[in-house]
Amino acid sequence: MALETTYMEQGRLVSPAAEPEDGENGAEGSLRPHRLDEYIGQEKAKENLKVYLEAARRRGEPLDHLLLYGPPGLGKTTLAGIVAHEMGVQFRVTSGPAIEKPGDLAALLTNLQEGDVLFIDEIHRLSRQVEEVLYPALEDYALDIMIGKGPSAQSIRINLPKFTLVGATTRAGQITAPLRDRFGVVLKLELYTPEELACIIRRSAGILDIPCEADGALELARRSRGTPRVANRLLKRVRDFAQVKGSGVIDRPTARLALQRMDIDEQGLDEMDRSLLRAIIELYGGGPVGLETIAAALGEEAVTLEDVCEPYLMQQGFLTRTPRGRCVTRAAYSHLGMKPPAGDGGDGQQVMDGMI
Ligand code: ADP
Repeated sequence: MALETTYMEQGRLVSPAAEPEDGENGAEGSLRPHRLDEYIGQEKAKENLKVYLEAARRRGEPLDHLLLYGPPGLGKTTLAGIVAHEMGVQFRVTSGPAIEKPGDLAALLTNLQEGDVLFIDEIHRLSRQVEEVLYPALEDYALDIMIGKGPSAQSIRINLPKFTLVGATTRAGQITAPLRDRFGVVLKLELYTPEELACIIRRSAGILDIPCEADGALELARRSRGTPRVANRLLKRVRDFAQVKGSGVIDRPTARLALQRMDIDEQGLDEMDRSLLRAIIELYGGGPVGLETIAAALGEEAVTLEDVCEPYLMQQGFLTRTPRGRCVTRAAYSHLGMKPPAGDGGDGQQVMDGMI
């Protein structure tokens, strides 16, 4: 029974989370664009960033600290790398959970050079003590270090080189106000359109030397849940089908066959998305139901459902968030081939007409 199946997020083809086989840091790291003009989509964020970069370059100063937020796999790390590249400085990468103690952060900061870009992924997961070390570093480019203990303890201030912090988070709401206030620029990344994803797929296919036709790319793009990381991953899997079952070229029929074999439906939903919708319908009458309750029923982490499944299901108009919980829409019923209850059946059950 589908509802009893638990899906490990790891290994899920349409998971936007990075997995080792994406090879983003290996030979295929070359899929990452290095210049702003190679970065496809996100026009609004890109336009603003262009101005800030140009202004910083003209003043001969590092860029203001930058906070990027949006669902995983949308290109936050890539954009941070581009900032470093465009400013002609070194790019240092770390993540919130990797910086366990204030000393870890101090070591990172004192090793920076003038102008460097320090990228902290999942910055909402920094501990309070570490965050406090970060404040003077961001504001005054200084580290306050305590030497000794008790009454003879002294605080000394070490000056740091001027650097740019780029923070990335999937959850802007979880960043503390004092930290958020120290970012001069905050950019939100949006899910990509199928046309933008098709461009990304064709660019990646060119780099990986996979022949890919325009309609094959668009077919993959339509089912990549608005996420470049998913698009690149599907491209690599479809390449296997093209080489083994087809003529070696990714065209529309090969893309369709491969996606069908991978259980990714016409709207780009996989089994995990469908079980989420089905659970709300079959167990909770279409909603409203709390996220924790659905997560428990599916044997999943609530954060996984919230970060990974929901943004896309909401964008597609299958799910709505209401103050009382999650509700499925009529579109979800018809997508699953299920009959929606007639209107508001008097039992409080609301079926939204695809509105978000
Ligand atoms: P995030 O940090 O938001 O999780 P990444 O920056 O790691 O996402 O992006 C995931 C992958 O998607 C990268 O390897 C990159 O190749 C690709 N990618 C992301 N955004 C773009 C873009 N705008 N244009 C082209 N490729 C992109």
